[in-house]
Amino acid sequence: MSLLFPALTGGPGERVALRFGERSLTYAELGAAAGAVAARVRGAGRVAVWATPELETAVGVVGALLAGVAAVPLNPKSGEGELAHILSDSSPSLVLAAPGARLPAPAAGLVRLDVDARGRGDVPEDRAADTDPALVVYTSGTTGPPKGAVLPRRAVAATLDALADAWRWTADDVLVHGLPLFHVHGLVLGVLGPLRRGGSVRHLGRFGTQGVARELNDGATMLFGVPTMYHRIAEALPEDPGLAKALGRARLLVSGSAALPVHDHERITAATGQRVIERYGMTETLMNTSVRADGEPRAGTVGVPLPGVELRLVEEDGTALAAYDGETVGEIEVRGPNLFTEYLNRPDATAAAFTADGWFRTGDMAVREADGYVRIVGRKATDLIKSGGYKIGAGEIENALLEHPGVREAAVTGEPDADLGERIVAWIVPADPQSPPGVEELAEHVARRLAPHKRPRVVHHLTALPRNDMGKIMKRALSNS
Ligand code: ATP
Ligand code: MG
Repeated sequence: MSLLFPALTGGPGERVALRFGERSLTYAELGAAAGAVAARVRGAGRVAVWATPELETAVGVVGALLAGVAAVPLNPKSGEGELAHILSDSSPSLVLAAPGARLPAPAAGLVRLDVDARGRGDVPEDRAADTDPALVVYTSGTTGPPKGAVLPRRAVAATLDALADAWRWTADDVLVHGLPLFHVHGLVLGVLGPLRRGGSVRHLGRFGTQGVARELNDGATMLFGVPTMYHRIAEALPEDPGLAKALGRARLLVSGSAALPVHDHERITAATGQRVIERYGMTETLMNTSVRADGEPRAGTVGVPLPGVELRLVEEDGTALAAYDGETVGEIEVRGPNLFTEYLNRPDATAAAFTADGWFRTGDMAVREADGYVRIVGRKATDLIKSGGYKIGAGEIENALLEHPGVREAAVTGEPDADLGERIVAWIVPADPQSPPGVEELAEHVARRLAPHKRPRVVHHLTALPRNDMGKIMKRALSNS
């Protein structure tokens, strides 16, 4: 049993904990508002939180955690079908929402409790056990219907403390936040992280490069983003010297949720002198690896296992690679205090996800350098192409394509081929739709950088790639289009 947020009771109460637009709460005010929520939800089985990017979402989640009640963050933009699925799966006893929020049909039937960000209550004594569920977070649904990962309090504490070590994250850090609040990245890292440290969050409401520059110029120290945000930054930098200067002031730029294209990373470094720290995690495991704040920057890698996390690469038959050479691809398996306990109502999926000795099968494929750095090559299900006897990761081909001046966005998939088993297909958004680069030019470009067997055989031109709300490319949708 340990306090998740020591700063709510012990810390400097006058420090600003949260700021969303014009509205903010000090630690003392947050403790009072969350304490009031806790008093009203105590004893409830599970509560849903209508996770709009507002102060009330943070207050609602912290209130539930203080009461020892598991919170289920809901995506306010999810379709009615998905919302109905998540609600019937998680069966919350009520939904916490901001007073003005309009709830659509499947959520409107629930008992609703409006969160008062100015509420006054006492911070209750924390009586929950470390193994009690803190959150049920649904996966992003990139590869199938979202699954509810039950995350114990222990996992939240362990992952945030491991990141504090890796990033030298302290109470002095002020985070610029522009992510949604219903996934691990935006909620656990972006809100609960600063609160556990006793630091501050400034949420932009909606991500924009101007807001990022404004906050960094105004004393913010860290930025958390997904690769699509860093792509927008990389595209804006050439015309915006003020942005480059502001980013140069940051202590830490962190990227995660999907692979950060090397080309974007390099452009940001060239313009700002800053590297972007990549970390790798999942809903089920919270954070697994990160480049350390004091570690060597290496574009295209997600760094080393975090303190307390065991990581290994295994072959198809489940045997662990004996040594790491930076070339042999294996599936990442992890073990540690950061792991979820189960998929809600999915005993079969839970059982299938773990080995007999407790390793979690991530479904992500990677290589590892002898010194421990991990480079993700893609997901086993969608990013590993078996072509001409080779196993080829989509990620390195995507990185190579993005270096072509005629390519703005790129995704690579495999499709059945009588000769090769699978052939490599590139889906690109051209920089200039009037003169998109053709298959021969791109095949030559890739073959020069990688190896001839990694060149795309087919190129499709699109106006945009299908992405979900975290900017992740939905490869299932691509292959069907
Ligand atoms: P679903 O499991 O429902 O198909 P999802 O796997 O996208 O969706 P999340 O749990 O939100 O749901 O995402 C975790 C996945 O995101 C990881 O398994 C990995 O494939 C990818 N990922 C996260 N961080 C990184 C990173 N830094 N580099 C590459 N991939 C990453
Ligand atoms: Mg997943």
